Amino acid sequence: MPRLAGVQSGLLYSNLLCLASINTDLTQFSKLLCSLPVYSRKVPGELPFNSVLTGRTPVLYTTYMLVQTLPDTMTKLTQVSDATAYEPAGDQPQNERRRAPYQSQSLAECITNVSTPKGQLPILKTMLTTACERNCYYCPFRAGRSKTKRITFGPDELARGFDTLQSTGQAQGLFLSSGIIKGSVTTQDKIIDTVEIIRNRYSYLGYVHLKIMPGIEYDQLYRAMQLADRVSVNLEAPTQERLSALAPKKDFMGELLKMLQWAEALRREHPYEKLARTVTQFVVGAVGDTDLELLSLSSRLYQQMGLTRAYYSGFSPVVQTPLEDVPPTDPLREHRLYQASFLLRDYGWRVEDLPFMMDGNLELELDPKRAWAELHLRSAPVEIMTASREQLLRVPGIGPVGADAILSARLRGRLTELAHLRKLNIHAPEKAAPYILLDGHRTATQMDLFT
Ligand code: SF4
Repeated sequence: MPRLAGVQSGLLYSNLLCLASINTDLTQFSKLLCSLPVYSRKVPGELPFNSVLTGRTPVLYTTYMLVQTLPDTMTKLTQVSDATAYEPAGDQPQNERRRAPYQSQSLAECITNVSTPKGQLPILKTMLTTACERNCYYCPFRAGRSKTKRITFGPDELARGFDTLQSTGQAQGLFLSSGIIKGSVTTQDKIIDTVEIIRNRYSYLGYVHLKIMPGIEYDQLYRAMQLADRVSVNLEAPTQERLSALAPKKDFMGELLKMLQWAEALRREHPYEKLARTVTQFVVGAVGDTDLELLSLSSRLYQQMGLTRAYYSGFSPVVQTPLEDVPPTDPLREHRLYQASFLLRDYGWRVEDLPFMMDGNLELELDPKRAWAELHLRSAPVEIMTASREQLLRVPGIGPVGADAILSARLRGRLTELAHLRKLNIHAPEKAAPYILLDGHRTATQMDLFT
């Protein structure tokens, strides 16, 4: 049902303030008009100023009416949902993507299945406002872009909308981002207010992922980390120089990196408190950034700032932005960056171990672990029966779980065939075959070089 926002009529010109917040349909409108108190302009011989209409008041009002409709919360949520299609929230960001251009038609489409630490969950990904006072060159919400529909929620409204979705089982988590209006501190306060309402008034205990605005205050970051399971501090670029080419109003050190440093400091200050984990996002490939730059910074963040995850979002041009003519980034580059990033985070690799080309990028055609193995293990294969865990993790096809399984299985007997590895839940031992010895022997297998 539309929400009535204002009414004009030929003989009665009423500013129906009392009706402005009442959901109704037009067939009911004339009954409401005669039964509710309204403030009306005096028309000589017709109605006194500020009169109360009753069922007996003679009113001629049906000449014409102009009714303006305002979208309700659910309609607004539907409209905003596309805004976060490229904001990764979970552990499998590429699965969260939608084909662009995308226009959601229903509320159900606003819910994204996100892989979270609490399992695969239907998450409402939304924004507090799609308006923004900044002008990042790649962003559809940048100030002054006329093609962007600006939609804003109040904290109460958004919290209520989420509660409706959550209590009816349509959403089991919230990812909340926002454009910046009246500064980062004010915007972050509204994000925090929204989640406080959700947590306190609606007693919601489930998954929440919040965006941290650049340059907020220490106490705001602390509160956000108390309320959320994850917070995103998006660096966007690996250096100030690259950031200036993407987002001229953002300060790499003072507004962004500092947030990640503070987050780690907060975790150390409050070791017994459950605080949100931190993630970041880079926009890849628009301004000459190299894989070496991105992965060097990622490695530092993993080691020194307790970063849980770096997201690499391949640049995708948006019309009516300064970068609209820059070609999109090859999705394979994103994929290789993720593979390399996991080697740094989970496999004990150092940036120097990664096989960069002369231009500072990884080969697109080859998985970086495989590229390294081709250089180093083809002629010096790893003996599975004696290798250390670190050496096992250098072998394509063997991950942390597989390495641990090998270490424990070889205490019980000899591993002499690929089938023995398969029994240890190493799903594709043929990937490892060119780079290993099994009890002193090579294993002959064919292999696709481009996996
Ligand atoms: S601050 Fe965020 S929402 Fe605003 S223009 Fe930059 S990237 Fe877009």
